[in-house]
Amino acid sequence: MDGEPERSRQGILLVISAPSGTGKSTLINRLRVEFPRLAFSVSYTTRAPRAGELNGREYHFVDSETFNGLRDSGKLAEWAEVHGNFYGTSRPAVQAMLDQGRDVLFDIDVQGSRQLRQAFAQGAFIFLFPPSMRVLEQRLRGRGTETEESLAKRMANARRELEQADFFDYWIVNDDLDRAYQNLRGVYQAEGLRKSCNPGLVEQILAG
Ligand code: ADP
Ligand code: 5GP
Repeated sequence: MDGEPERSRQGILLVISAPSGTGKSTLINRLRVEFPRLAFSVSYTTRAPRAGELNGREYHFVDSETFNGLRDSGKLAEWAEVHGNFYGTSRPAVQAMLDQGRDVLFDIDVQGSRQLRQAFAQGAFIFLFPPSMRVLEQRLRGRGTETEESLAKRMANARRELEQADFFDYWIVNDDLDRAYQNLRGVYQAEGLRKSCNPGLVEQILAG
């Protein structure tokens, strides 16, 4: 830009949890479009792909045997059973992205967020709320991906997750989509300004 050398940056972990149907994927997709250098942690799951999902893009879809093998050999930074399926985060993939100075985005449940904080000892943990339980149910039904049984499971799980919202650093209510997006974007940008993300900055400025 103005001839200054590129500064070394420490990548950040941006972790987003929300009850299923709140609008997490919608907001995450928007953030990834605006910030293409923000890497996404593609989880492993034993759940079957939904229509439109691609192996390696939304998830790595694996069978239980493969999942257990990854878990038992320490390749997962965290894992959890959610709505009857197993989900887990690849430790080597995340570490490689952080080592390249990239920011990494996670879409994981509350149990996973807690484990991730221990695994990496850093990160911004965001909890996304639906405006109400009634609206949450409407959104889940509107998405058209759930059976009555899986809908009931997700609503029961939502209540348990909301009870654990206190663990998170930031709370965003997804009522109006644009407003929720601006809030999410604001958190991401502020996190990148933390002094811990910019090691050596003072020395570099003094030396120039
Ligand atoms: P999640 O990833 O949290 O399970 P989705 O992103 O799939 O949720 O969103 C669930 C449904 O709610 C989708 O049909 C989506 O289009 C809709 N939705 C998301 N955010 C909003 C919003 N702010 N207002 C209205 N509908 C929304
Ligand atoms: P879905 O099946 O709707 O894609 O996701 C169900 C839930 O699993 C969501 O709450 C999502 O955040 C969570 N999830 C997705 N990947 C992971 C993961 O790697 N670890 C954990 N703990 N949860 C995950």
